[in-house]
Amino acid sequence: MSDIENNVINVTRASLPPLDEYTEMLRDIWDSAWLTNMGRYHEELRAKLIDYLKVGSIQLFVNGHSALEFLIQAMDLSGEVITTPFSFASTTHAIVRNGLKPVFCDINIHDYTIDADKLEAMITDKTTAILPVHVYGNICDVEKIQEIADRHHLKVLYDAAHAFGEEYKGKGVGSYGDASMFSFHATKVFNSIEGGAVTTGDVNEELMEKLYELKNFGILGQEEVASVGGNGKMNEFAAAMGLCNLRHVDGYISKRKLVYERYIENLNGVKGIILPELNKDVKPNYAYMPVRFHDYKRNRDEIFSILKGGNVNARKYFYPCINSYSCYRGQYDVNDTPNALLCSQEILTLPIYPDLSLSDVDRICMMILN
Ligand SMILES: *Cc1c(COP(=O)(O)O)cnc(C)c1O
Repeated sequence: MSDIENNVINVTRASLPPLDEYTEMLRDIWDSAWLTNMGRYHEELRAKLIDYLKVGSIQLFVNGHSALEFLIQAMDLSGEVITTPFSFASTTHAIVRNGLKPVFCDINIHDYTIDADKLEAMITDKTTAILPVHVYGNICDVEKIQEIADRHHLKVLYDAAHAFGEEYKGKGVGSYGDASMFSFHATKVFNSIEGGAVTTGDVNEELMEKLYELKNFGILGQEEVASVGGNGKMNEFAAAMGLCNLRHVDGYISKRKLVYERYIENLNGVKGIILPELNKDVKPNYAYMPVRFHDYKRNRDEIFSILKGGNVNARKYFYPCINSYSCYRGQYDVNDTPNALLCSQEILTLPIYPDLSLSDVDRICMMILN
């Protein structure tokens, strides 16, 4: 029976490997009694992800957010960091929690990533880095961003939480900029229950050692604590889940593709419905199904309610914009980023996950079209 007849369809559903694959690994964990602190599965996952993500080096973390916080700390930044208001709370919070000031650049209206043409005007003598987001798995204008960063001697850190396994011009997305952060949260394309990583394009031993130190309390050796670190270590249970899911992730992505294409088939060419467009230079992961309702017969919030009434929980990703959060009240004006504001009012992300049945996709589309 389809999910919709059973109960509720949520925007996503965690991908799980066959249970016995996981329990087999649990037995090894029991035998060794090594539960965390860079154990066997941690190291195995690290090695496998370097290959899968096509990156030079990687450091694993307990979750994506702490990966980003530790990365910013490791970069030793000061002053201002230019970022996008059209993202998950984590991106900006990681900047602020490092004592830095986020400066919001607007997004472009085609793929919702940071507008590289508006970037340069946001740079001041306090700017030290740019933190763009490959939002919905849409890859930022990495060439133009790098060119601007080089000219102004800025670091570029990507929030690649949505871009697991994607490639741009044949290279792993995690190889662009100075470093990238990935999230392996249960709701993402690839999960280790909770988990995250920082990657670099070239082998960067210095940064990886710094990140290792920071995620392990700043401990350098048995008798030396060299920095004010925290605890960001990925445990063996999470690493084992990651290893199991990694065996199946290509299958997950192929099934997502079918769901994605079914939505496009159903909603294509409808006036007022703006669908995502794939970039020919990107190997996509079909992580999200963002649909923009612009001058459609019903607005985004009405569609949201209609779906909810039919037991379908779509999500208003990303509403509200980060620069209008109550925790940042008085510091920013959301009208300064008009494209982000408009998208936050018009985009709905529809359910997409490997096991969503195509007949449920059809029914969701019928609710939208009727
Ligand atoms: C999920 C997500 C994060 C945070 O990752 P966690 O693993 O949940 O900590 C950061 N940025 C974006 C854009 C995300 O979607």
